[in-house]
This record gives sequence, C-alpha cells and structure tokens, in this order.
Amino acid sequence: MESSFLKQQDHDVWAWIQKELYRQNEGIELIASENFVSPAVLEAVGSILTHKYAEGYPQKRYYGGCEYVDAIENLAIERAKRLFGAEHVNVQPHSGTQANLAVYTAVLKPGDKILTLSLENGGHLTHGHAKNLSGMLYQVFHYDIDPQTAAIDYESLEEIALRERPRLITIGASAYAKIIDFKRVGEIARASGAWMLADIAHIAGLVVAGLHPSPVPYADFVTTTTHKTLRGPRGGMIMCRASWAKAIDSSVFPGNQGGPLMHVIAGKAVCFGEALRPEFKIYQEQILKNARVLAEELQKYGLSIVGGMTENHLMLVDLRPTFPELSGREAARILEQAGITTNHNTVPRETRNPFQASGLRLGTPAVTTRGMGTSEMRSIALWIQKLLFSPNDNALQVSIRAEVQELCQKFPLKY
Ligand SMILES: *Cc1c(COP(=O)(O)O)cnc(C)c1O
Repeated sequence: MESSFLKQQDHDVWAWIQKELYRQNEGIELIASENFVSPAVLEAVGSILTHKYAEGYPQKRYYGGCEYVDAIENLAIERAKRLFGAEHVNVQPHSGTQANLAVYTAVLKPGDKILTLSLENGGHLTHGHAKNLSGMLYQVFHYDIDPQTAAIDYESLEEIALRERPRLITIGASAYAKIIDFKRVGEIARASGAWMLADIAHIAGLVVAGLHPSPVPYADFVTTTTHKTLRGPRGGMIMCRASWAKAIDSSVFPGNQGGPLMHVIAGKAVCFGEALRPEFKIYQEQILKNARVLAEELQKYGLSIVGGMTENHLMLVDLRPTFPELSGREAARILEQAGITTNHNTVPRETRNPFQASGLRLGTPAVTTRGMGTSEMRSIALWIQKLLFSPNDNALQVSIRAEVQELCQKFPLKY
C-alpha cells in the first residue's frame, strides 16, 4: 500500500501499518468475523468524505453542502433494499453494536424483558450480557442450545417466550454453525406478543447469496454488520418494516449517534454494489465449501466439531475430547506461532472460564477472499492437527510457519 504522505509525515504510524499489512499478507486468517475488503471499498473509506458533517438523513440534514453525500447515502440505501428485499434501511450505525442498541432503544423501555441467546452459548455481548448496556438496561432471559445437536433449542425458546412474555426476542449469533430457523422464531414471537430482532452480523453474505434463509419476511427488525461475510467496511446497518422507519431513524440519530461516517457509508454503497453482482454468490458458495472441507478434514484427524458438522461459514472445535489439557486460549496461541490466526471461544456446556475457554472458532470468509479453495483447506487442517497434537514442539511451529508463508505468497492481498 503506497501511502507516501503518511510515510513522510508520520513514519511511526506508517511503519506499524506496514507491519500489519505484512502480518495480514503472510498469515492465514481464520477469524470467522474478519474479511478483506476490495481495493475499491478501501479507497472509499479512505476518501475525503471523512471531512463532511451530515447529521440527519438525505434531504433532511442539519448542515449545508450535503448534496453529494445525500446521493451516496441514498445509493447505499437503495442497494441494500435490493440486496435484502427490505422495506426500510438505515445505513448509519457505526457498528453492529450500535445497530442493536438503536433497535433496543426504539422498541424497549428500561426494565423491559428481552429473550436472547447468551454470549457463552454463541450469542453476542449486545444480546443482554451483564457488562453490556443491553444487560444493564433490560431484564434478560436466555433460551438454550441443545447439547446433542448444538442447535438452538426452539422449544425452550417457545416455552420461555410464552411464560415470560418478553417485549423483544433477539435471534442471531457470533459462534453458531447451524442454519437458523427464522420462520419458526417469527411464529413464536407473534404467538407470545414479542417483537423480533434478527441479528445477521455473521451470515449476511450468505443470506444475500440465498445460501441461508432470510429473516426479512419474518422479523420486525434485522441488524447486521457490513464487515464480516458481507465483505464491506467496518460498520452496521438496520432493516425494518416501513411502519418502524421513523422510530428506527430517530433512534439511530439523534438517539444513539451524531454525525454519520460518510466515508464508511460510501464504502457500504460500494460493498453492496459488489454483493449485487453474480460473482458474490460464487464467493459465498466457496466460503461454504471451504468450511465444510476444513471441518471434515479436522474430524478425520480426530478433532471434535461442535454439532458434528458446520452448515455455514464457521465451526467451533471442542478441544476437550481430544486435548483435555489444552485450553482454547493456549490452542489459539500455538496456532498463531505458526501464522494461523483464530480465536478461542466458549463451547456449549463450557467447563472453563471464558478467558481460557475450551473451543476454537474457525471461519473461512477471509481465506476464501484471498482465493484459497478446498485443497488449501486440506493443508490448513493438516497443519492445525500437527500443531495441536504437539503443542510444545517449537521446531514444528517454525517449519509450519514457513509453509504457511509459502502458501500465502501464492494468494497475495491486492493492496
Ligand atoms: C460482530 C457482531 C455484532 C457487533 O459487531 P461490532 O461491529 O463489533 O459492534 C453484533 N452481533 C453479532 C451477532 C455479531 O457477531
């Protein structure tokens, strides 16, 4: 990446960015929530749009000079509506977290009941974790995961919903490898008098490509990030029925945010334009193929995949059956020594504390963007098993590091 102004003016920051670029280029990125944007998205996010204040919405701004950013925001909205078939879209949330909080503050009063999946079982912080605003403001109930199948226990969801009558049911996850039955949750929400929020932060790209059922016909609100499988800039978005448009818009601004990040909204518009093309579906299909092969290979080597198999872009490896002594944290550290980046994760019926955890979360969106396919997944699975079966073998880590680098050089990043 040639950024000569930065290099000349602030060599320290420039040098750290170069190191990070090298790290990204020479390592295998298996963090399920990460991806690599196109150079076009990166250019939009790095543009002069960062200068512009545009509080409000297109044609209803509190600042002058907004005619061009209005056009950009409208383009992002129109493209998102086409992609998801949504009635109303708000592209201003700075992140997935802010998208969720904006829905909550539009629908809920402090003390209201919400029913969600806990962080420990694969949900997200913003789904009522005690240390998140969502857990401080609302009365939180959690539905469960079936320990056998690792799928959401829809019966427990229904039973709690009918008993507690929550105002909102949140469905969606960060570490969950099964197809989500949005239709069923919609029926439960209606039967119990709750609103339904589907948080598709992880699976948005699959939904757009028709490879995961869409929640849009069933949910009152759909939130997503734009930077995971959707492969856009870091940010959030809310979709809702037209009847909620005003409440959602005013909850985002002025309720939760001030000026929108117009450079990021431009990046979102570019990302949505890319996702509307036929190649995007091929990309998403390859993510799924790669995930399936990676999981199958790991299983062949004796590793335990939570729920038996993945149905989406990620998988959780439960280390306990194969490596009872090895925590998720330690396993992730060992893989990182060899240039394979993952994250430790709690697994259903977790027995360690969340800082250690017993699982590894692996995802294929980023490696698929680089052009890697199923034969590369086989190599990666082999390296992972070798590293985990010999956790103290430093020479092995060094030699696999070299193989990882060699593989990565065949699939260079385009920046
Ligand atoms: C990643 C994620 C978010 C939040 O994303 P941030 O942009 O990091 O705030 C919200 N919900 C789910 C399910 C996620 O996986």
